[in-house]
Amino acid sequence: MRILVLNSGSSSIKYKLFDMTDRSILASGHVERIGEETSALNHQARTAKGDLAETSKTGRVADHREGMKWIVEALSATKTAEDEDGLAGIGHRVVHGGEDFTQPTLIDHEVLDVIRQNVPLAPLHNPANLIGIEVALEAVPDLPQVAVFDTAFHQSIPPRAFHYAIPHELYAQHRVRRYGFHGTSHQYVAGQAAAFLERPLESLNLITLHLGNGASVAAVEKGRCVDTSMGMTPLEGLIMGTRCGDIDPAVHFYLLREAGLSPDDLESILNKESGLKGLSGTNDMREVLEKAESGDDRAQLAIDMYCYRVKKYIGAYLAALGSVDALVFTAGIGERAASIRASCCRGLPGLGIVLDPAKNRANAQPPFEIQATGSAVRILVISTDEELQIAEQTLELIQNRKEPRDV
Ligand code: ADP
Repeated sequence: MRILVLNSGSSSIKYKLFDMTDRSILASGHVERIGEETSALNHQARTAKGDLAETSKTGRVADHREGMKWIVEALSATKTAEDEDGLAGIGHRVVHGGEDFTQPTLIDHEVLDVIRQNVPLAPLHNPANLIGIEVALEAVPDLPQVAVFDTAFHQSIPPRAFHYAIPHELYAQHRVRRYGFHGTSHQYVAGQAAAFLERPLESLNLITLHLGNGASVAAVEKGRCVDTSMGMTPLEGLIMGTRCGDIDPAVHFYLLREAGLSPDDLESILNKESGLKGLSGTNDMREVLEKAESGDDRAQLAIDMYCYRVKKYIGAYLAALGSVDALVFTAGIGERAASIRASCCRGLPGLGIVLDPAKNRANAQPPFEIQATGSAVRILVISTDEELQIAEQTLELIQNRKEPRDV
């Protein structure tokens, strides 16, 4: 039984086709630069022999509809033995579900309308996600399709943690509050951590640290998220590749007034020119680490600030949870940058967090654990896999649905 996962962005569509009998990837790829002069498809598929065959194609892809045509063609040109089981459904990544979606949801007209109503909350992402869904519904109208929201896992956050201290009407009328993102990843690694620890998720308190290009922390109490560092948008919280994370909101008014910036300029600076890039000149942690190694003070400052911010959130979420069984590092930096993990955990024995330097540097294949003997909190490194989580949730919903929906 196969599940196709689609992640439709503003100028690209990424996809992965899973064989759900063994969770293996049958094919994957992306169409990039949709709407530009030259677009490109890169496609990888598993052959009958089990090797990976790569194909690519360039040309003009005017819109997402045409992009989906390229994907359907590429997928049908690389049919595999598993095709006999047929495609069971499609899982779509949707960035913003607002307060309306607390879990993955089978798509029907009503669901599409609600995703549309949430466009003002994610004006760059939700329209692109919607186009992907509409095009897929046109291509295969009879197939069940599921929306999996980045925000859904965080809907269990209590009011004391999701409200901002601003006039209540701004929440009531404009829905200004913390939503949180990367929910699919936090939920997935929390489940994987429980499996690694051989304990029920419902018995564990975890702090999950998704440190990729975007980065966020979540406090997960007995499988339910109770706080997260990203806010109404993905700009709040940790220092990221190009985003500033937490900042005094008055800086905005000051810069609008004193630096002659427009609101659009400022939005772009804080989202695209800040974080590691603003501090050190590059958003890529590997390059920041290399620069720091060769004596670049600004790169070293960026690393120090990055880890200090992570450490502050670990302390805050330990206080929020009361006790923590494990810290879980994941995503590009969390999984691979041992020196960053070490700095984030340095000086925390008072909180029961002590890392074993040798285990940390061993660069094992995740999942593995890196705490010192006697550390009250276990420290895990777990690979995230948002697409597999979307495929799992899509399959579960399809298998458990009671009656066909109006698609
Ligand atoms: P995205 O959020 O785009 O999915 P990833 O989870 O792939 O990003 O994380 C990208 C980040 O991980 C980049 O900053 C990259 O430099 C960093 N990274 C990847 N491999 C390493 C490594 N071996 N050491 C340090 N940083 C790494």
